[in-house]
Formats: sequence, structure tokens, C-alpha cells
Amino acid sequence: MSDTIVAIATPKGIGGVGIVRVSGEKARDIAKKICGRDLPPRYAHYTDFIIDAEHVDSGIAVFFQGPHSFTGEDVLELQGHGGTCVLNMLVEGVVGLGARMARPGEFTERAFLNGKLDLAQAEAVADLIHARTQQAAKSATQSLVGGFSEKINKFAEELLALRVYIEAAIDFPDEDIELLAEGNIVKRFGGLEQAVRALRQQARQGRMLQEGFSVALVGRPNVGKSSIFNMLLDEERAIVSNIEGTTRDILREHIQVEGYPVSILDTAGIRENADLIEQQGILRTHKACKDVEHIFLVVDRLPLTPDEERILSEYEGKISLVVNKVDLMRAPPQTEGVLLCAQSGEGVDDFIGKISEIIGVASNDSPLTARARHIRLLDEVLISMQSARKSLEKGY
Ligand code: GDP
Repeated sequence: MSDTIVAIATPKGIGGVGIVRVSGEKARDIAKKICGRDLPPRYAHYTDFIIDAEHVDSGIAVFFQGPHSFTGEDVLELQGHGGTCVLNMLVEGVVGLGARMARPGEFTERAFLNGKLDLAQAEAVADLIHARTQQAAKSATQSLVGGFSEKINKFAEELLALRVYIEAAIDFPDEDIELLAEGNIVKRFGGLEQAVRALRQQARQGRMLQEGFSVALVGRPNVGKSSIFNMLLDEERAIVSNIEGTTRDILREHIQVEGYPVSILDTAGIRENADLIEQQGILRTHKACKDVEHIFLVVDRLPLTPDEERILSEYEGKISLVVNKVDLMRAPPQTEGVLLCAQSGEGVDDFIGKISEIIGVASNDSPLTARARHIRLLDEVLISMQSARKSLEKGY
């Protein structure tokens, strides 16, 4: 941490402006040498950038005095012209003055180590940069400004208060045992448990925003899976034909549903007497079914065949029914499934609506950027809370 580090902060390539960022003890001195004067902090200075007595570029220099900077250390930003060559010369010049190249993520790492960001916020920086949809960016921003951490901290405080209360009652049983028996504390505990559950839901949503949600279309050959796939993508990606077994491998494409990245898998039709290559495709379909978050079983007539019934029960809990080719049916069938005509696009809104319902888009709380780690820990918290509440309720 005592090294002064430098890196180009803007993306590779050519742009109007490119930024070189320096952080560490030598930043002030480097600023003085390159810009030819002391830079009062937090002002934009238009200046020449001089390296080894050579005029490399002219631009804006901003000096942030620690701890009032992103990393918490002295930071210098040189905003020059955005050509690779110019920026490299600036970086080399800074290195020549005693800095070293930063490792990836090192600026954010220092911000974390210096207490400018907590871990959830530091992770949110990466999530914001890598966000693929506007929704994902919004949720990362929320976590970045501390939304997630604030909730967790508040929750931990409340939990601690309850724990102090309970432990006091255990330590001084004569006076306070009634306090525990009283319904009030169980109620407070229950309320807290609900709050964590809600937070876990928000975190789950946030994770889906980052990592996406995957659904597979499965069913017998020729029911219209590829047509639905194309309808969702609005283009002819999968080959549509009425020859059974046309889709032998799995196609994957990405769409957005209410700002959530959703990947759609079109699978090989499942049927009994398939040739060898097709059987391979069917095996992959089964693997895909296990991997995805949700499965749509596509059928083109009711009642279901025994095969279809079997698939429904095998994946119970993560599968729903789509009845396609309703244009060929005399009357709309009585079913809880989504009704579709992939050929005309009728029912596509219902289908998309169903996907967003499954993702849980409708929930009121906005999602918070979260990692698998956060969700796993929240799950552990919930299990502990559940058993604590049960003990309380039983009067242990
Ligand atoms: P897959 O084998 O399940 O992928 O089915 P395809 O998407 O290849 O479609 C099989 C046949 O059904 C093609 O000839 C499609 O044009 C036709 N088809 C798909 N959807 C519909 C629909 O909604 N109505 C009608 N009438 N035909 C459809």
C-alpha cells in the first residue's frame, strides 16, 4: 500500500479524452513535476503535461488530497487526449517518477482497505461497470451508494439489540424470565425474520439482473419450439420446419424482460424412437432442463401425452405449460398454461408476462446488486433465525 500506483482509467482505444489516474504518497510530487506547479486540491487545472522536459500533451489535471479521494490516498487525474500513444507516454512518465503500474482492481482495493467503501460497495463497482441492462446498472448504483450495506447494518443492529435482551433474561432468570415468555419479543423477532426474507428476495433479484435468468423451451418435435424461440427474438435464428428432429443441438439467445437479461434455450424435441444424433440432442435437452431456472413445456394439443405428463412431474416446481398453435383449435382450451400462436405472434405478451412473473419482477422493492456469496450468507442467517424463533416460541 505504500507504493504509488498508476493506470489508464479509460477504455483501450481512441477517444476524445483519456484519463490516467495516479494514487499514493508520490501523487502530489508527480503532479508538481508533470504540471510544473503545486495543484490546489479539487480544482480542474488546464495545464501542459511535461515529461523529461518534453511537452507530451495539454489537458486537465485534478488533484485530490487524501483522505478526500476515491482511494482515500492522494490521487492525481490527468485528463489528456484519448489516444493510446499519448496515454502510454503519460503512464511511462509517471512510472519514471517513481510509481508502478496498478494491478486490475487495485484502486478499488485501496478504497476498500482505506475504509472508503465496504466490500459490498467495492463489488458493486465491478457490477456497475459490467452491467448489461439499465436495470442492472440501477441496482448496482443502489448498492454502490450503500443501499445494501445500510440495510444489512441496520438489521445486524436490531438483531444485536434482541440478543442482548434475550441473554440478559437468561443471565438474570429471576427477574426477567417473563420478558421472554411475553409475546412481544417473539413478534419483534418474527418481524426481523421477515425483513431478512425480503432482503434476500431483493438480493436474489439483483443477482438475476447481473447473471441473468435462463429458461428452456422443451417438448415433442414439431410443437413449435423453434417458432416460439424466433418469435421471442424477433428474427429467424432457429430453423423452422415441419420435419421432426430439425433442432438437434441447443440454441441459446438473450433477450431482455423488463430490464432483466434472460437467456432462452431452444432444445431438441423429446421423443422415444430418435436416431443416434437426435438421441444426443435429447440427452443435452435433459441436461439443459437441470441447469436452467425455468422450463416451458410446449405442447400443441391437449390432453397431454404420457411423455409430457412425465416431464411435467419430473421438473415440478420449475416448469410451466405453453399451449401453442391455438389457431388450429376450434375453441380455446381449458388450461392454466399460456396460450400461444407462434405463427402470428398472438399471446406473446402473455408469455413475456409469465416470464416476468416467474422472475418476480412485480415485487415492489427495487433489486440490490448481490453476489452468490451474499445470498448464501443470507440463507444461513435465515436458517439460524428460524431455529432461534422456534426455541423462543417453545419457551426454551
Ligand atoms: P419445433 O420442432 O418444436 O421446434 O417446431 P417448429 O417451430 O419447427 O414448428 C413446426 C411446424 O409448426 C412448422 O411448420 C411451423 O410453421 C408450425 N407452427 C409453429 N407454430 C405454429 C402456430 O402457432 N400455428 C400453426 N398453425 N403452425 C405453427
